[in-house]
Amino acid sequence: MTAVVNDKTQVYLVGGGIAGLSAAVFAIRDAHIPGKNIHIFEVLDVMGGALDGAGSPDKYYVTRGDRKFNIEVFNCTWDLFSAIPSLTDPKKTVKDEFFEYNKIHKKNAKSRLIDKNRNKDDVSTMGLSWGDRRKMLSLIVIPESRIENRRIDSWFDPSFFETNFWKVFSSMFAIEYWNDLVEMKRYVRRFMHDFYRMVQGGGEVVTPYHNYDSIIRPITKWLGQQGVNFEMGCKVTDLDFNPSQDELTVERIHYLRHGEEKEVVVSKSDYVFVTNGSMTADSRRGSMTDSPPLETRKLDGSWTLWENIAKKRPGLGNPSVFNSHIDESKWITFSVTAKDPAFLKLYEQFTGNKPGQADMVTFKDSNWHMSILVPHQPHFLNQPKDVFLWGGCGLVPDKEGDYVKIEMSECSGKDILTEVCHHFGFVKELPHILETSTCIPSMMPYEMSHFLPRKKSDRPLVVPKGSTNLAFMGQFTESGECVMLVESSVRCGKMAVYSLLDLDKKVPPVYTGVYNPAVWLRTIVQVLK
Ligand SMILES: Cc1cc2nc3c(=O)[nH]c(=O)nc-3n(C[C@H](O)[C@H](O)[C@H](O)COP(=O)(O)OP(=O)(O)OC[C@H]3O[C@@H](n4cnc5c(N)ncnc54)[C@H](O)[C@@H]3O)c2cc1C
Repeated sequence: MTAVVNDKTQVYLVGGGIAGLSAAVFAIRDAHIPGKNIHIFEVLDVMGGALDGAGSPDKYYVTRGDRKFNIEVFNCTWDLFSAIPSLTDPKKTVKDEFFEYNKIHKKNAKSRLIDKNRNKDDVSTMGLSWGDRRKMLSLIVIPESRIENRRIDSWFDPSFFETNFWKVFSSMFAIEYWNDLVEMKRYVRRFMHDFYRMVQGGGEVVTPYHNYDSIIRPITKWLGQQGVNFEMGCKVTDLDFNPSQDELTVERIHYLRHGEEKEVVVSKSDYVFVTNGSMTADSRRGSMTDSPPLETRKLDGSWTLWENIAKKRPGLGNPSVFNSHIDESKWITFSVTAKDPAFLKLYEQFTGNKPGQADMVTFKDSNWHMSILVPHQPHFLNQPKDVFLWGGCGLVPDKEGDYVKIEMSECSGKDILTEVCHHFGFVKELPHILETSTCIPSMMPYEMSHFLPRKKSDRPLVVPKGSTNLAFMGQFTESGECVMLVESSVRCGKMAVYSLLDLDKKVPPVYTGVYNPAVWLRTIVQVLK
């Protein structure tokens, strides 16, 4: 069907995460939709979704992690960044700024894994057996359709999960043994070109400042200049479809604006793009003295909207596969704001890395599967020289710490900071670090939900069969890309705009080094170590 686009066309985007924001950029730049005709509904009072991050030097900063990017893999993302002027130098694009920063600041992690005796692990060997290598090879080639809905540990032997390869791979991509095998296959195919330098973080590139300052603020500024309407505090609750079963056409959007019921009538030339599900939905903060509460009532709206519409039509996925296993999907991240460089100095002495030089440090034997990340300082544009930021995460929050005998999910910021310092052996300095730091934990009930085992049909296609004006975006949409990547959300935004609005433009294929002999050679040498 040929898309109807005219000067009255309105584009309604549900979700102000990077998926929704990138769809808005592509709709303006490539489909020439006027910004004033674009409406982004966001339940929160801030744009950016998982890429949010904020704070003030006199109190503290809070982020929900920092993103690593990869030059070869993030093609749609580079295209997005090339459309947006940087915040710090408007003569440059966000892409220019990003690449210039990474040309100067190369990663060279010297302490990737630390064991329970505080030894830096020799990660020059991957530790794989011949059986593990054979299984990896089979995983690369087996069709996805033959391994749907399977856990990773149903494929590999238990000893695989003790290897350096797995410890680095799983902490780098935050993937656990109970996660989806198809997703692991996709990650191996997508990132095998960098396995030879994965330990040093060699293939990774990062934003100069936190993702919020380097990506979200410039994009929202540009969209604002184009006249885009940011409908903040608006929770989209339901969509009404045309009753014809032969087509999928949205006729009405229902939403709550600060609790008040509202609706929008969607006309024949309008389009609706929905971010279905969210890994950061219902995340809650704790404090230095309190643990973060676990919110399970699906209040943010991303899950309930998807549940409501999936009930109405086949082909719109199965949200319960992702949102009803909170014990397997919850994660805790923590952000530390220090008014004194004590921790950072000790970190430098211990790891041999300056802030920003290493990707992450993983305490490989830690009960919480904990990693920390010390980014280049300043991490926020408004961060003064005498304030220092770092953070981390625990992928198994229902276990007691190795030193603090409390489950991570019950820990205050003080408890988590204490556990980190003990892992490093910074025990003498701990009282001073606690006194001069604020550690804010965030509980994210659905953080790993995108990695849960699934069938292909559990996620809707970007443009579902029969759709005339509805597209899906984000981590719970089948785009062919790996999940938990900014790239997959941006890719969905691009695919949604190009296909639904019928543009004569191509979305680049997802990257894989699998067909490149040089990649194989490097990978074989590495996995034989
Ligand atoms: C701790 C952590 C570390 C990560 N590390 C990396 C990394 O290293 N590299 C990488 O590439 N990616 C990483 N990711 C993943 C990446 O951040 C996400 O994949 C991406 O940001 C998701 O963007 P999104 O727009 O699809 O969804 P989200 O960021 O979840 O945004 C969705 C937005 O839509 C809103 N919304 C949803 N439904 C509704 C509704 N019904 N009404 C109103 N508003 C609604 C939500 O409030 C939210 O703001 C990480 C994520 C986390 C949390």
